[in-house]
Amino acid sequence: MKFDILSLFPEYFSGPFDESIIKRAREAGKLVINQVNIRDFAEDRHKTVDDRPYGGGPGMVLMPGPVTKAIRSVKQDGSKVICLSPQGKKLNAALCREFAKCDHLILLCGHYEGIDERVIQSDVDEEISIGDYVLTSGCAAAIIFVDAVSRFVPGVIGHEDAAREETFEYGRFDCPHFTRPEVFEGKAVPSILMSGHHQKIAEWREQAAIDKTSKVRPDLLKIMGEKNE
Ligand code: SAM
Repeated sequence: MKFDILSLFPEYFSGPFDESIIKRAREAGKLVINQVNIRDFAEDRHKTVDDRPYGGGPGMVLMPGPVTKAIRSVKQDGSKVICLSPQGKKLNAALCREFAKCDHLILLCGHYEGIDERVIQSDVDEEISIGDYVLTSGCAAAIIFVDAVSRFVPGVIGHEDAAREETFEYGRFDCPHFTRPEVFEGKAVPSILMSGHHQKIAEWREQAAIDKTSKVRPDLLKIMGEKNE
């Protein structure tokens, strides 16, 4: 799977994609993550990419010319262009799973006040938000998007079942996890987990997951109930 990330700060991404699971997936050729600097597509000798908003108001807006050229420089048949935006559909596990089926995603990162709306109208397939808050730029959102989607790309997570057992997959959280030592600061690991009784352990985990979900996110359980009806 290939990601082309279009931004004004390609350096922003060195680090997050050079560690751990994403790094290994890149090295194994499961993921290709390419940076495109929108400024390389500026149309004047000052490399201008932003300008004041028509109608007045604070801040600057990314100009349509350089952004459109940057998108079209990497777009191919079958590419999907996603603009990271607080005005988009909110990202969730189901959407990540769907995006992971794409071969090529182009991620457009906004900066300042945002991007000229005409780019969204003509060259963007979908606007995606990572949550109901406003970030300073789309770069942090793109990192989260790549990370969350990549987990569903076959071969990225070593243990294939891992993504299926995670929080949100069954309309509830994952179960609580414990490791050594058996007692930590006076708190013992639940004894059932050391019983070796697989069926009972599975039942305990399921119940613990449901208990925490109903306390913290009862809305998730409601969705699960609706699906089962
Ligand atoms: N003026 C815009 C608004 O109020 O809708 C916010 C612009 S924000 C300061 C700059 C850029 O950060 C956006 O163009 C977008 O790319 C990115 N961004 C901010 N919040 C985001 C979010 N919740 N999800 C995804 N991208 C976000």
